[in-house]
Amino acid sequence: MYIKRKLNESLTTFKGLHYGYKTFQKSSHRYRVSVGIGGNIGDVKRRFEHLFFVLKRDKRVELLETSLILKNPPFGFKNQDDFFNSIIVLQVSMQPTYFLDYLMRLEKKFARKRSFANAPRTLDLDIIFFDNRVIQTPRLQIPHASWSQRESVVIPLSGLKI
Ligand code: ADP
Ligand code: MG
Repeated sequence: MYIKRKLNESLTTFKGLHYGYKTFQKSSHRYRVSVGIGGNIGDVKRRFEHLFFVLKRDKRVELLETSLILKNPPFGFKNQDDFFNSIIVLQVSMQPTYFLDYLMRLEKKFARKRSFANAPRTLDLDIIFFDNRVIQTPRLQIPHASWSQRESVVIPLSGLKI
């Protein structure tokens, strides 16, 4: 069950029990990380629900907060279904490259297959911020290279409770 709100012709938000969520529980993990999640194949909201529970029961991460889900049109390759995006805030103790490996294993678990850039996907997990670190390597850029230009990141992020 979601509360659905149309922002304009192309953007709609969905608020539910697990998206638009915050816990005040203390975490013993060291770093605060914002992860952008997205997908546009099949029942994406249902997949996000599943991801919420997978993260909640994983001791390697503490799920602190989630944004609303934003439905928005694709960019780049336009001939594909709309995307659903959200931001998940986690506390972790892993270093950034290990955390990227962890996210890529999760994408695999959710049956992600890489094809071409901006292609349709079941689940995309991107690190937007990792504490206040700045990383510029070929494999990993933090903050995420284009976060500030994407509605799919900026709109969900703006609703977080900090
Ligand atoms: P995109 O997310 O750009 O649509 P992919 O999910 O296929 O495309 O990611 C392509 C590559 O982006 C990954 O193999 C990863 O090494 C790299 N990458 C660089 N910075 C980040 C980041 N902050 N979060 C996630 N992946 C990143
Ligand atoms: Mg990605």
